[in-house]
Amino acid sequence: MPSRITLLGATGSIGKAACEFLQNYPDKFDVAAISGHRNVARLVEISDLLKPELVVISDENYFDALKQAVSSATHQPRLAAGKSGLQEAATIKADRVLAAIVGAAGLSPTLQAAKSGASIALANKECLVMAGKFLMQSAHEILPVDSEHNAIFQVLSDKPNEIKEIILTSSGGAFREFTRKQMQHITPEQAMHHPNWSMGAKISVDSATMMNKALELIEAKHLFSMPAEKLKVIIHPQQIIHSMVRYCDGTILAQMGVPNMYLPVAHTLSYPHRLPAPAHHQFDFTDTTKFDFSLPDKVKFPALNLAEQILNAGQASAIIFNAANEIAVEAFLQKRISYLAITDIITRGLDEYHADEPKNLDDVILIDNKARQIVEEIIKKID
Ligand code: NDP
Ligand code: MG
Repeated sequence: MPSRITLLGATGSIGKAACEFLQNYPDKFDVAAISGHRNVARLVEISDLLKPELVVISDENYFDALKQAVSSATHQPRLAAGKSGLQEAATIKADRVLAAIVGAAGLSPTLQAAKSGASIALANKECLVMAGKFLMQSAHEILPVDSEHNAIFQVLSDKPNEIKEIILTSSGGAFREFTRKQMQHITPEQAMHHPNWSMGAKISVDSATMMNKALELIEAKHLFSMPAEKLKVIIHPQQIIHSMVRYCDGTILAQMGVPNMYLPVAHTLSYPHRLPAPAHHQFDFTDTTKFDFSLPDKVKFPALNLAEQILNAGQASAIIFNAANEIAVEAFLQKRISYLAITDIITRGLDEYHADEPKNLDDVILIDNKARQIVEEIIKKID
């Protein structure tokens, strides 16, 4: 079992599950470093709970506030800030690093952590979408935290020829039952309210547009080296089955549990062992009377069609796809664009910008930056 853990993005919703898990096992793990971006109060609270060696605030404008808050805290860790601070957190000696920063901002620290030799518990799916090949080559071990990929990881055999397909389950998002007409008026507040999960703002919107499932298809392609035609999505509103693998002999292996992120976070932080979970994280069969399944509606959720296009395209298209989504989601949260405009804008971004394949991380970042500028321009024109 790993004994020294670092939490990148400790102040977020995945970070919260990790804190709950680590607090349950104070004698089994030491925390090397934790990072947050702006949430100083929560960062200091976690520092007092988990007693890390290093605490990093990645937005350096908040460094003074962090120093002041820590001066009256119980635990007195070493402090750092900004890009260099985040690099220090990513590369400090640790057995396992939980990569739980949201979006493209997590790519460099995750790659740095992988190159420093730590095993990576990966929540930040955007990293794989942007730089799947580079990340898979740099890391000696990636343990998927995303609940679908964690499920697949747990039931996947090491004989790829025997795998018929990988089936990602999806709740269908908050607007599964909406017509396209009803979708015209969806607000950020509605999109933030997911039926089964409590998550950060960006992934809540991604779930509502099903961009989350689109990103997850690309994530699965890299994690499990699967061709596009073997990757399927099925709607399962109860979200008890977290994903499945269908084998050539007709067997389907599924992983089940309550729909929260404690389970996959606990699994990846304790892997290859398992530690007992508290009673409220145990699934009770008398709670759910039926399991429903249906096919996703790609007309209502065009993100899934875009995903098919990206799965068969190169890495550059995936970077543009991810960047366009991040910018469009931000604009939607700021009420600059409508819910339905999100996937339209991503489509326009992909039409307007074609880049050469990236040869290294610098190229990835260049394509990402340029895609963001182009998509901002598209949004300004419709503002
Ligand atoms: P949150 O928004 O709740 O948390 C994001 C974390 O990243 C916070 O610690 C935040 O710091 C930090 N952060 C934000 N911006 C930056 C930046 N520019 N530089 C460095 N750090 C930054 O997100 P979630 O925890 O929900 O999601 C984290 C990742 O995990 C995402 O990639 C998401 O797709 C993935 N994931 C999440 C799931 C979930 O159920 N939540 C499920 C599966 C995957 P601060 O709060 O201090 O600003
Ligand atoms: Mg998921």
